[in-house]
Parts: sequence; C-alpha cells; structure tokens
Amino acid sequence: MPVLLYNTMNRCVEEFVPLDDQQVGLYSCGPTVYNYAHIGNLRTFLFEDLLKRVLQLSGFSVNHVMNITDVGHLTGDGDDGEDKLEHMAHKTNRTVWEIASYYTDAFFKDYDELNMIRPSTVCKATDHIQQMIALIKRLEEGGHTYISGGNVYFSIDSIPDYGKLARLDLESLRTAVREDVEADDNKRNSKDFVLWFTNSKHGEQAMMWPSPWGRGFPGWHIECSAMSMHYLGESFDIHCGGIDAIPVHHTNEIAQSEAATGKPWVKYWMHGEFLLDETGKMSKSKGEFLTLSLLKSKGFDPMDYRYFCLGGHYRSQLKFNFDSLSTARTARTNVYDRVQNLLKDGAKQVTLASEHALSSQRAFMEHIQNDLNTPRALADLWGVLKDDRLSSDEKYSLVLLFDQVFGLRLSSITAPEKETFPPEAEALLLKRVQAKKEKNWALADSLRSELDAMGYLVKDTPSGSSLEKKM
Ligand code: AMP
Ligand code: ZN
Repeated sequence: MPVLLYNTMNRCVEEFVPLDDQQVGLYSCGPTVYNYAHIGNLRTFLFEDLLKRVLQLSGFSVNHVMNITDVGHLTGDGDDGEDKLEHMAHKTNRTVWEIASYYTDAFFKDYDELNMIRPSTVCKATDHIQQMIALIKRLEEGGHTYISGGNVYFSIDSIPDYGKLARLDLESLRTAVREDVEADDNKRNSKDFVLWFTNSKHGEQAMMWPSPWGRGFPGWHIECSAMSMHYLGESFDIHCGGIDAIPVHHTNEIAQSEAATGKPWVKYWMHGEFLLDETGKMSKSKGEFLTLSLLKSKGFDPMDYRYFCLGGHYRSQLKFNFDSLSTARTARTNVYDRVQNLLKDGAKQVTLASEHALSSQRAFMEHIQNDLNTPRALADLWGVLKDDRLSSDEKYSLVLLFDQVFGLRLSSITAPEKETFPPEAEALLLKRVQAKKEKNWALADSLRSELDAMGYLVKDTPSGSSLEKKM
C-alpha cells in the first residue's frame, strides 16, 4: 500500500516516493530554547513523531534531523525585535548559554515523557556557524545578497519564484515595497530578509562570531538551510514544521537554499495545524501558559495528552480544554484496562494468520497511510478491542502493531499482579474444590459461606475456581 501525504507545496495529497529508495531524509524545525515548550508546540512535534513512526512501519528507514535554535530567532519574524534568548537572559539575569542549556533539557524531558522517538541527529545552531557563513558566501557569489546598514540581506528579486510555498502574491508584494521603504530603509524589498546581522539595534549581543562581513550573528532562516543540507544533502525528502512557518520562515528557507544550489530543495512540505486554547491563540507572552508540567500537576499523564492529539487530524485545528483532555484520559485508561484484561486472560503476541485479523491490520494501515488519519486509526483500535471474532492473542498482537504508530506505551502494560490470599482461605478453597469433585454440594456451599464470612468471594469458571477479595 502506498503512503499518501499532503504536500503543502502542491496543496494536495500525493503518493510518497523518496528520492532514495528506502532511506528517507526528514528535517523538522526544532524548538527555540528561550522558554518551556507550550502544549501547542508539542502538538507539532507529536505530529512529526507520528509521521516518522508511520514511515517506519511502512518499511522506510528515516534519517530525522532536528535543529535547536539557540541564536538568531528574533521576537518578530520580519527581522525586527530582539533575539529571544538574549531577551530572556537579560530578563532573568542569566547567560544566554545557561538559558539555552536549561530549556533544551526541559524540551527533551517533555519529548521523552511524550514517548517521542528522538531524532537521529539534533543540531544546535551555535555549533554550525561556519556552515551558515559558507552558505551566505555562496549566495553572495551568486549575486543574491546585498549589504545595507551593516547587515547582509537576501534579495528576493534575485530569484524568479519567491513565495511559491505560501503562494504569495508577488504583485501585492511589489506594492508593499513602496510602503515598506519608510518602514525599513535598509531593505530594497519589504520581503528581503537578513542572513547575517552585524548591526543589531539591541547593542552588544552575547553571542557573536567573526565573519567576512564583521562580527555578528546569523538570521534565523539560514540556520535551517545550512544544517539540513549539511546533514541530509542539497536535496532531501520531507521538511516539516508548524503551519505558522509557511509564509516567512519556510518561504525564506526555500528561497536561499534553491538560490544557493540551483536545484529543487525539498520534495514534500508538511505542516501541522495549530492547537488553540480557550482564547483562540496559544502564546508564551501571556504569562502563565499551558505546559506538559502544568497538565501533570493537574493529575494528567503525558499519554493522556498524546491520546488527545491523536484524536484530531494533524491538518485540522484542535481546541484544547481540560474537559476534552479528561475525555481523552477516560478513553485512554479504558484502552489500558482492556489490554490488561487481555493479558490477564494469558494473551500473547502471535503472527497474525486469520483472514479477519489480517483485514483489521490492512484497514489500520490504510488509514494511517492515508495522510496519517489517526482519528480513523483510533476507531480501528477500539474496533479490534471490541471484536468478538478476534482471539485474545490476535487482539493483543494488533494492539502492539498499532502502538508502533500511536506510541501510547501499550507494550509496557503488564498483567495485573496475581492476588495472594491467606493460607487458611487457600486451604478452604482447596477443600471446596475436592468437595465439588466428590459432588458433596452441601459441603461445597458451606465452605463458600465460610469464605464469604472471611471476606472472600469464590468465582467458579470453566477453567477452575478462584478467590476474589470482596469490595
Ligand atoms: P518555537 O519553539 O517557537 O520555534 O516553535 C516550535 C514549533 O511549534 C514550531 O514548528 C511552531 O510552528 C509550532 N507552534 C507554535 N505555536 C503552535 C500552536 N499553537 N499549535 C501548534 N504548533 C505550534
Ligand atoms: Zn526552520
């Protein structure tokens, strides 16, 4: 079955065919480590983890590269404002390096708690300044840059197809140039963007490096182009991020990458839709914001949030509130209970053989391979758990298979501990088993009453008699 994915570049669902037979190059824009990730950010990373899991289950090996933005991301996307890390460092009286290290650790704690598979390579922007400088030099040699007010700019008019991902209307951009001259005298076109800053209006930055254009620091967009090409080559398969990255960040990444190499850069662009809170927009600037730790402090398990996200398709907006999260928790714990009951009945993993089990597997694969349709795939999970035509072994085996995509830690569920009873209760039960064998029903009944008085129920099933503690 082919894997079908929605490609933002072409605005349609396409069959996924990697550039290289079985090895997929996947780049995702990582976090800007100036604060904790909010659960909206985490939704985007969960979508990328889901994509990777679906590709892996479909037989591809995935080389996943994710960057850590620890320099150059300004508070405004259009080259305005202060570097986010510098801003936080000043506010909290810590160094930028301390800020970066602290929030990178916090990010990966969330990442692990949400059971996301770590990328093959995690690369920090500050470790790749030389690759960025080399890329800017290449752009300069190709006539795509100019220096103005001390900064190096990318000229969008130096390429024929700026804005193709976002389908920007270039005519209206041209009109905007005139308006924009007043806004930023340094830019020839309002959409031109900084590749290298030597002149920041926020004075001496803590993070600066020597360069052919003077001491300074890179723009945010050049980071992702330089690092992705360094690790995945000049053309690779998939680039992902949140939907907000389309009009500026990803648009600029494409412009500079393709201008530098003269080749198509990324084959499939994939974007996760936003998680919305009650106010409509999730923002870190509002003071207290929704983090995984906050959900945990309210008694939720990270897997509840993972289940909640699986309930929405990654290309649809998802509204967050605690009622919906509670509903997800109830559903998830029901799944856990059912899996535990299967184990209690002795279920084990087997090779699927019956036509019915195989058709359940096919339906699931078809759904997740159809642009990661997790709401349908979750319905498949419930269908399997409730399906009387499947044996316990088949159900358990399908659950384990499905969880390679869901990542809900269903494989770590264990059978409940066997309850132990006092020796006198066990002795009475044995006596009763013997009495039943001898068809001494009166004795069997009186032993049952005796056990009942001690606080134990006798359960008779076709496979034998057992005790249960009375509630
Ligand atoms: P940042 O750490 O700010 O660079 O953001 C990390 C990722 O989260 C980016 O891919 C953003 O596009 C994404 N993102 C930001 N806000 C939201 C949101 N409310 N819902 C989903 N993703 C988001
Ligand atoms: Zn990026």
